[in-house]
Amino acid sequence: MTESENTLSEDQLIEQEFQALLYDYSQTAHRQKVEIITKAFQFAKQAHKGIRRRSGEPYIMHPLAVARIVVKEIGLGSTSICAALLHDVVEDTDYTVEDIEKLFTPKIASIVDGLTKISGGVFGTQASVQAENFRKLLLTMSEDIRVILIKIADRLHNMRTLEFQPVEKQYKIAGETQYIYAPLAHRLGLFPIKTELENLSFKYEHPDTYAEIEKKLSATEANQRESFNRFVAPIKERLDDMGYEYKFEARIKSPYSIWKKMQEKHVPFEDIFDLLAVRIIFRPNTTMSEKDQCWMIYSALTGIYKPHPERIRDWISTPKANGYEALHVTVMGKDGQWVEVQIRTERMHEIAEKGLAAHWKYKMGYADESELDKWLKSIKELLQNPESNAMEFLDTFKLNLFASEIFVFTPAGEIKTIPQGATALDFAYLLHTELGEHCIGAKVNHNLVPLSHVLQGGDQVEILSSHNQHPQHEWMDYVITAKAKSRLKAYFKKEERKAIQEGKRIFVEVVEGMQMKDQIEGQLQRALNYYQLKMPSQLFLQLSKGLIDPADLEKAIRPKQKSTWLRYLSNIPFISSDSNRQNSAAKTDLPQKEQKRKSKHIVLSEDNMGKEYVLADCCHPIPGDEVLGYKNDDGMVIIHKRNCPEAGILKSSHGNRLFSAEWDMHRLNTFVATIEIKGIDKVGVIIKLLNIVSDDFKINIHDLHVTAQDGIFNGILQILVYDTQELQDLCTAIRKIKEINSVLRID
Ligand code: MN
Repeated sequence: MTESENTLSEDQLIEQEFQALLYDYSQTAHRQKVEIITKAFQFAKQAHKGIRRRSGEPYIMHPLAVARIVVKEIGLGSTSICAALLHDVVEDTDYTVEDIEKLFTPKIASIVDGLTKISGGVFGTQASVQAENFRKLLLTMSEDIRVILIKIADRLHNMRTLEFQPVEKQYKIAGETQYIYAPLAHRLGLFPIKTELENLSFKYEHPDTYAEIEKKLSATEANQRESFNRFVAPIKERLDDMGYEYKFEARIKSPYSIWKKMQEKHVPFEDIFDLLAVRIIFRPNTTMSEKDQCWMIYSALTGIYKPHPERIRDWISTPKANGYEALHVTVMGKDGQWVEVQIRTERMHEIAEKGLAAHWKYKMGYADESELDKWLKSIKELLQNPESNAMEFLDTFKLNLFASEIFVFTPAGEIKTIPQGATALDFAYLLHTELGEHCIGAKVNHNLVPLSHVLQGGDQVEILSSHNQHPQHEWMDYVITAKAKSRLKAYFKKEERKAIQEGKRIFVEVVEGMQMKDQIEGQLQRALNYYQLKMPSQLFLQLSKGLIDPADLEKAIRPKQKSTWLRYLSNIPFISSDSNRQNSAAKTDLPQKEQKRKSKHIVLSEDNMGKEYVLADCCHPIPGDEVLGYKNDDGMVIIHKRNCPEAGILKSSHGNRLFSAEWDMHRLNTFVATIEIKGIDKVGVIIKLLNIVSDDFKINIHDLHVTAQDGIFNGILQILVYDTQELQDLCTAIRKIKEINSVLRID
């Protein structure tokens, strides 16, 4: 074959594909704007001239294929077809968006611009880049939904031709498709595309499993066909009698959907493949509502086959959020198998297949906002309320994307869609942000429930609110919807900004009071060093919350004032409400060895005089405690408190090894003592406590661990004291703090 013949046949191939596109277009109800489509095709062909895809095809074959998907499988019109033809021109050639705007229309140019912006993979090398790209994707989507529809068409064609990519790229593209494009297609109601995307991803991610399932599927095909024909024959008769035009479809199961069911239900292939699924698509007559006619067919069907009492889904009375409508029923076939039957009108079918685009086509004349419109609106709202952290945004959005939905009712009987697992608080936010922020609880089916109550499908929900109520941090644990989460975060951020401003005001006031105003920057740095904080905002926040006392701040920024306890300050989980930490009051390793043999503090009874001894680990006796000595197997003497439970056991088991011991009271060494402090979790309590220990008593703190729950804080304080007298005095002083309820030595 000569060079020119080869080029000629390629041109023919391209022309053939373009004619096929025009044919697909001519089969639609769109106004026939062949001229601009031809112009877009010619322009793209010339722009990509000489470039080939990995498959060896001329590049233009790709935009042509994408345009065909856009018109044939999604049902979009000339603007989208042009944008699809031009979608890689700005990305891959020297032409700009401005060129396209000049040659075509501003709308086409802006869609191409959107497609160019999201041309990189959603998955960057870093998670944050990935999230950022994803956000860009959503932004362009909310500007014009056609951008994302064309992007999905682009991805579909790339998946169909994925075999030409190197293996590692296959993994990346397949993973990304599975992760975001398939769910998006699902959310937009593009079921066949979603199914194909998932299936192709599966094929490249698990090639062996895919091949195995595919083999088994084709082996059972003939059988399936036969039982399908047997099943539909009597239904056909009835539909003919009723005078309907109709068609039947056997729902094709993809290897992916079978594999997913096998995973989910832990069953072998054989248990899944023979589940027959049948679809009835009919043209309704105009004398009756579509819904009534679906139920008439239901009635005819269940006159032939017995229905499963619990498997009826009426997606006509309450369509799915992506616009899906149909009547689903499961009946018992003649051979004793359950068969799922979907009853749809032609309109419902088109919506089910082409999702959004078909939805728009049929929407004319409907005043009502569709669920899909509402969903798109909620995405726009989310985007207008941006989080500082892109990853968080991604998480909240994905929640929204994958959640399956339930229906609940307002007291007025209005139906609302809400993700499964949503709580009363989510519902309050769904109705109105204001209502969410003041929500105190709800009445579900007339029973009072807390904010965190998880709603069930069919619940009637009345939100109770009060003007005195405001969002609490633990509310984050009560909500699952993107809207509630992002609104709560926005609220807390706003509150924090206010608190920081207030703290800053206090700080400036303190510095001004000290007549050191001119050195404010230096003072700030000194304060940060002192409290071991990194950011001024942290300091301001603690000041405004009362965690740092202004009087103490004054000491902190005055040079040469040092106090050891402050080192602990930055480590204290002040207002922690983390219940997991409740019992983790960790006792760090004590410097026991240092304490043990420094000098003699214990006077042992005559025959043990002068022997080596250690202080027991279980009860940590300190001077002033009543003690006794115990001689262990190695002849070592261990000093226990007399009331130590361990000593109690020894008393009954090894009474002969016990002997009396006394403290030689002097104030040379300190000993570790542990006290447990309980009180009301109010800001400033810890500061007061630490002031008493460190400033008033000059006692060194060995460790401090504070947990808080339900407004009660629990502090485990390890201190180094000389004797019981000092410890008692300290405890007495701590008890005087108003918010402290109990102080107890715990070993
Ligand atoms: Mn492309």
